[in-house]
Amino acid sequence: MENKKEMKNWLDDFKLNHPLVIAGPCSAETEDQVLKIAHELKNSDVSIFRAGIWKPRTRPGMFEGVGAIGLKWLQKVKEETGLLIATEVANSNHVKLALDHDVDILWIGARSTVSPFIIQEIADALEGTDKIVLVKNPVNPDLALWLGGIERLYSANIKKLGVIHRGFSTYEKTNYRNNPEWQLPIELQNRFPDLPLICDPSHIAGRRDILQDISQTALDLNFDGLMIETHTNPDKAWSDAAQQITPKVLIKMMEDLKMRKITNEEFDYKNSLNTFRTQIDVIDHGLLDNLGKRMKVAIEIGNLKKKKNVAVLQTKRWNEILGKMILDGEKKGLSEEFILRMFKAIHQESINHQKRVING
Ligand code: PEP
Ligand code: MN
Repeated sequence: MENKKEMKNWLDDFKLNHPLVIAGPCSAETEDQVLKIAHELKNSDVSIFRAGIWKPRTRPGMFEGVGAIGLKWLQKVKEETGLLIATEVANSNHVKLALDHDVDILWIGARSTVSPFIIQEIADALEGTDKIVLVKNPVNPDLALWLGGIERLYSANIKKLGVIHRGFSTYEKTNYRNNPEWQLPIELQNRFPDLPLICDPSHIAGRRDILQDISQTALDLNFDGLMIETHTNPDKAWSDAAQQITPKVLIKMMEDLKMRKITNEEFDYKNSLNTFRTQIDVIDHGLLDNLGKRMKVAIEIGNLKKKKNVAVLQTKRWNEILGKMILDGEKKGLSEEFILRMFKAIHQESINHQKRVING
């Protein structure tokens, strides 16, 4: 791809002293809901109103969006508040309807970015327009796939482009709904310094309490903007209830966020720390998982012992386990003292479980 200087120009229209802020509900639910949220956001640093109309739900049977009727509500938002409007498109029909309803910014969701066919279809449908298009990262941490999406749009002459980092899904449970792998968007930014970079802390977090932290990290890493899901009654939202915040909370959060630049060294430190912490979270979760499984097995043994009327504590077997674990632990750099203390605690918990079974 050539130099993309022109790509950042559209951003200049929004950027004053603040990062670009896109806010609004995960899903448009009713006309009232959409307008109420928009009015609460209109006199803030938010310049773009978002709402999903067609929702790509992972499993069928969940709320899949209100469909095209929601576009009329978005148009009303623009008329009544002056906010620009944004929605997700996932096929050429969505694009056509969004264009018919004067949607200003179209974003491509994480489940669409994984598919070159879908991106190409959207790019073809947009050719010849001057819409702003934001491409979310694919669900999997594949930089080439993300870049490929941008390239397909760029080749269709869509020059007002940006990317949204919404985190990557992992099989293992971590602290995040979608793990932020900051090195990917940063790599993208190094390659294309003029490609606006937006962070979506809502889909990274999956919950409210760490939105501010993630947003601050994004700003520290020189992101150009934030997309944050906002709802006047978050707990009752029809989708992504746990991660939405009220407009009031969002406005307070924006006041508290600091614009500061960090050095490369600080970035490396923060990034490595974050990577290691995620690894620790995964390992800790695995430890608990295994301990839980171990207790279930202990209960089964308890059932057997009850039938056979055998005592819970079997000293010989226990000493054998301990001896083996001390030797094994040594190979892994774990001290005898630690192994003894840890296995005593685990053993005690097993005994407690078995006693409960045997004593009914
Ligand atoms: C959304 O923005 O509501 C959405 C569905 O996001 P993602 O594509 O990141 O999952
Ligand atoms: Mn959502």
